[in-house]
Amino acid sequence: MAVRDVPPVIELTEQQQRGATCVWCAAPLSNTAAHDLGPRTVNAYGSAARWFPRCCPTCWKGLRQ
Ligand SMILES: [Zn+2]
Repeated sequence: MAVRDVPPVIELTEQQQRGATCVWCAAPLSNTAAHDLGPRTVNAYGSAARWFPRCCPTCWKGLRQ
């Protein structure tokens, strides 16, 4: 499975950063529909931070094509 990489965290909204909306299309996510993309380590303003991006079912399907 080829994994499309997530966008740079600094380009995302606060909602996308905390997993409330899809990292690609910004669709609102419910806990049942959201797909976890796995933890990432991001460099935020000079310090490493853990980030748990999530995506919607539509983008998840797109990842698998
Ligand atoms: Zn999406």
